[in-house]
Amino acid sequence: MKGMKCGLELHVQLETHKLFCNCPTEMRQDKPQFTVERVLHSVAGETGEVDAAAAAEEAKQTRFIYEGYDTTCLVEIDEEPPHQVNREALRIALQMAMMLGMDVVDEVHVMRKTVVDGSNTSGFQRTALIATNGSIRTSKGEVRVGFLCLEEDSARIVKREGNAVFFRLDRLGVPLLEIMTEPDITSPEHALETAEKLGMLTRSLQVKRGIGTIRQDVNVSVEGGPRVELKGFQDLRRMPLVIRKEVERQRKEGAKPEVRNVNPDCTTTFLRPMPGAARMYPETDVPKITITRKMLAEARASLPEHPDAVAEKLASVLNPELTRQLLHSDKLPLFNELRPKVDPKVVATTLLSAEPEIRKRFGIDVQIPDQVFKDVLWLYGESKIPKGAVFEMLAEYAKEPRDILEIMARFKAVDGLEVERTIKRIIKSKPGLSFAAYMGLMMKKFRGKVDGRLLAETIKRELGNQN
Ligand SMILES: [Zn+2]
Repeated sequence: MKGMKCGLELHVQLETHKLFCNCPTEMRQDKPQFTVERVLHSVAGETGEVDAAAAAEEAKQTRFIYEGYDTTCLVEIDEEPPHQVNREALRIALQMAMMLGMDVVDEVHVMRKTVVDGSNTSGFQRTALIATNGSIRTSKGEVRVGFLCLEEDSARIVKREGNAVFFRLDRLGVPLLEIMTEPDITSPEHALETAEKLGMLTRSLQVKRGIGTIRQDVNVSVEGGPRVELKGFQDLRRMPLVIRKEVERQRKEGAKPEVRNVNPDCTTTFLRPMPGAARMYPETDVPKITITRKMLAEARASLPEHPDAVAEKLASVLNPELTRQLLHSDKLPLFNELRPKVDPKVVATTLLSAEPEIRKRFGIDVQIPDQVFKDVLWLYGESKIPKGAVFEMLAEYAKEPRDILEIMARFKAVDGLEVERTIKRIIKSKPGLSFAAYMGLMMKKFRGKVDGRLLAETIKRELGNQN
């Protein structure tokens, strides 16, 4: 789209302990074990100014209530200073920098960024610049990646009640990679491609998987107008349409520098003005870290294969569509683990389609644990169960999660002789039916127990014998 400028901002949660304490980073679904209440005080920034937005928020007299667990500590409620930066998270950030060909800083300085909505107990978010000046290759040329930061995630909002806002502390302090591209993206489709490529790179590292673990923001401007930030993309595939509509809106209404929320119908609504500049000042509780050669060497030693190389390898064992889907799926590491032992096509198809198929057929919204996928696919790989049983066993598990061996007892491989005897019996009692009709009868009897191909072959052979 001519005149459009667009850049991306990604936030990716890392699969480590928290950034400034040793608490785990698991999201809790059970009831909170304690609450603490805080009122936000706006703090003077480095320049001595009080952030206008912070002052406005305080004026509203909002009560912030934080819900915690035994998996959170005094750091999350700001009763204890932050500990040293988590070294594993730092290593992953360095690896991301390497994958994007970035210049890594010599010293990591943790900064405080004022946060006015209560989502941080301290009133600020800690963030550290890790690298600058990288790029990612796309079909439309290089998109420059300006900055890579390592920062702490905010507390997640659970509800609002009157003037009270309730937050969970489980997410506060989860390490995040923040990746910012320059506005080199030239079309809505190009934005999607870039987002997918960046997503693919991050997924090859030790990051969290599943809903809410990657957040994509998009900056859009038209014809020299101000930058507008779009937040809350739920579904990447809608990104092109959202951007197209936003460009149209900006051209029609004119744009203000503001943050807008993406709606389910792909339009956007005003969320808040663009935050001011007087927001960063040094975090004096965390000492600076000098990036040593040893740290870089360690990061490089465990650097995973670049996704472009992975894509090439996948393309040699899978068709283009499966390759594409798998590359954009968070099931790729699981695929790689299973690939040496099990037919890659069966593994890819199962990992990609079992959950959506179960949702469609049985209306069960299931997330099958990696271990269950492994158990079932290994059983198939060792010829303990027929191919048709793979999906059926996963569906059984979705309906009633239990031990896989228990489920398997129902799906014991049936031998060819039993199949042959059965079809003979059926043909005898119902002669003259079509191949499809016999296939239907046999499927009813053997679904999930016998490979469809074996059924078809046996029926064909027996029908042939009749003539
Ligand atoms: Zn903690």
